[in-house]
Amino acid sequence: MTALMTTQHIKFRSAEFATSASKVSECPLDIGSEVAFAGRSNAGKSSAINALTRNPSLARTSKTPGRTQLLNFFNLNIDQCRLVDLPGYGYAKVPVAMQLKWRKHLNEYLEVRASLSGLVLVMDIRHPLKEFDRMIIDWCIASELPLHLLLTKADKFKKNGIMKAKMEVKKGLPEHPEGLISMQSFSASKGDGIADLERQLVLWMKPAINAISVATDSDATINHEQIISPTHQTSPSED
Ligand code: GDP
Repeated sequence: MTALMTTQHIKFRSAEFATSASKVSECPLDIGSEVAFAGRSNAGKSSAINALTRNPSLARTSKTPGRTQLLNFFNLNIDQCRLVDLPGYGYAKVPVAMQLKWRKHLNEYLEVRASLSGLVLVMDIRHPLKEFDRMIIDWCIASELPLHLLLTKADKFKKNGIMKAKMEVKKGLPEHPEGLISMQSFSASKGDGIADLERQLVLWMKPAINAISVATDSDATINHEQIISPTHQTSPSED
């Protein structure tokens, strides 16, 4: 008999607040698999997490005053699978010294966390690739951490606008290994792109869950774009 035949589904709606950490030493045990969400303040990160988990108040935890500088962990229904809400960056109210401290802790978290399977970088589709975004992207490339660019608030654009924005982002990315960075458009307000996001997360978490086959209800081939590194790009198709 081969491995377990059960298909265990990750249910993102099962996400429950587990704990906050202000530094790496306070994080949960570094085992299993976690996917972190990063984004500048106001990019739409909380709305994206809430849409993914179908829980309108989940990510509010991270916005409670005093908690914005913390990493917030949410457990999923599968043992040792977690979502992590990284602190928003760029809150005007947060003093510079605090922001520097936050940056230090974030760097440390990204560097040491073995169970970190991938990072979702949430960007407002109208204002992508700002300084913070570039810092995260450079870091992921340097450490070969899989990165998924979530271009949210896509409802602000028509189909053409979305395509154009994606092209611009693609062009603006630094050189990177093929397959390391993927990208999709998303709208928390309309609920567009949730299934694609789920599939990406399952893909990342799957290898860490030994002997259990994991799927979502909509498990299928991934249909958002894998970005081809500029060095591997064929003819650019601008309009
Ligand atoms: P965060 O600071 O990154 O967590 O951002 P929030 O999730 O709090 O969103 C910031 C603002 O953008 C709020 O006013 C949201 O209602 C709005 N917003 C978030 N996602 C979307 C979206 O998909 N479409 C639109 N139109 N607005 C959004």
